[in-house]
Amino acid sequence: MQTSYSYLIIGSGAAGVGAATEIRKRDANSSVAIVSEEGACFYSKVLLTDYLRGKAAKEKLFLRDEAWFAKQKIDFLANVRVKRVDTVGKKVFTTKGALSYDKLLIASGVYPKKLQVSGADRDNVFCLWNMKDAERLEARIAEIKKSDKIKQRAAVIGGGFICQTFLKIFISRGLETHLLMRGDWYWPRFIGQEAGRLLEEKFLENNIILHKQEKVKDIAQDDDTLIIKTEKGKEIETSLVLAGIGTEPNIDFVAGTDIEIDDGILVDQFMKTSAPHVWACGDVVNFYDLVLETQHRQGNWANATRQGRIAGINMSGGHEVYEELTFFLIDVFGLKVMFLGDYGRDRADDVVVRMSVKQKKAREYYFKDNRLIGACLVGAPEDRLLIEAAIKAKIELNKEQRLELADENIPLGQSKLYANK
Ligand SMILES: Cc1cc2nc3c(=O)[nH]c(=O)nc-3n(C[C@H](O)[C@H](O)[C@H](O)COP(=O)(O)OP(=O)(O)OC[C@H]3O[C@@H](n4cnc5c(N)ncnc54)[C@H](O)[C@@H]3O)c2cc1C
Repeated sequence: MQTSYSYLIIGSGAAGVGAATEIRKRDANSSVAIVSEEGACFYSKVLLTDYLRGKAAKEKLFLRDEAWFAKQKIDFLANVRVKRVDTVGKKVFTTKGALSYDKLLIASGVYPKKLQVSGADRDNVFCLWNMKDAERLEARIAEIKKSDKIKQRAAVIGGGFICQTFLKIFISRGLETHLLMRGDWYWPRFIGQEAGRLLEEKFLENNIILHKQEKVKDIAQDDDTLIIKTEKGKEIETSLVLAGIGTEPNIDFVAGTDIEIDDGILVDQFMKTSAPHVWACGDVVNFYDLVLETQHRQGNWANATRQGRIAGINMSGGHEVYEELTFFLIDVFGLKVMFLGDYGRDRADDVVVRMSVKQKKAREYYFKDNRLIGACLVGAPEDRLLIEAAIKAKIELNKEQRLELADENIPLGQSKLYANK
């Protein structure tokens, strides 16, 4: 078995495979390997949702198979876990022995945080982050679909980005669906209460049973039924629990190295880490955002793919920066929610909320030092290009201009922000 590679990549997701593809395009002869805890293929995590909703066959999820990797002369070291990295000796220690590298890429993504309550380790308490999780969840859904109607129920715990995806899965499968959240509205970290109400309407239209301001204390079990007990004394019976309470970067194996960490692996605009010969990209990084002139961590497919490409270029002798404005769109039961730029509400020093109550639109603009750094558009996807341009142009609005922007009675077109509409 080959144990030394010119390019060694940890992770077989969008970022790792994107980088390997780019490296091979630019360097036809050097040895390239991907080490992954998962099986020898590349699939779309985004489409896991469609698979679980019964809208896509499992085969449709696979984007690259073993034959493709063989043809590209990329060694796919499947079902191998990296335990430690030695950046001085340029070695990676795995569950199947040590590998040497000339250049290393870390594209190990994130893992879902575990619920920290008693009973969280029960069989029918799930998380959803990879194919194995999806297969386990699918098996349980299929099982309960065969049981009495009363048993056909599921509960989602958490207010994370991904929970609305979980709700769509259960509703599509005809399960009685509960959502337990700590806050008074969904996504309190990302949107305000008024925008939250628009999402809540969608949940209620889809018969989702909401349990607001509830903190789970314990998950008990009676025969095949799970009983979620909350701190306020509520008890919710269900056949499965799916938790979505946030993610953490997969970085345990870099401990003790000279790779700098701060909520993910710190990289510059070239996807380069602080250690020589080591790059990183995708969900695992806290990257330097050239547009916003700040470091931040973002988890989405487009960023992972594009950063993979940039890392691949720079590892193989190129010199290209990552300069993309973060953008992603989520369809919450037909309501389009768009996040642009830096949407971490807590990083903004002023959040301007403009509600168009009759049109069921909420626009939230995030400002720092008067500069627009991000936005969340609920039901207003038509603003996308204009807002993107404004963030890139570093548009500034003073306090008075921000108050006008928030005022529904003043036409949007009168705002400096929308001047180019
Ligand atoms: C259900 C679901 C729905 C989603 N929907 C959307 C969506 O609609 N839009 C969107 O933009 N994004 C969505 N995402 C997020 C998106 O899929 C991720 O942002 C993207 O896949 C990140 O790619 P990545 O390559 O950085 O990491 P990953 O795809 O997580 O790949 C990391 C790889 O590294 C491997 N690895 C980790 N640690 C080790 C180790 N120690 N040793 C060996 N291998 C290791 C992992 O097994 C994995 O194969 C969704 C995610 C999920 C789970």
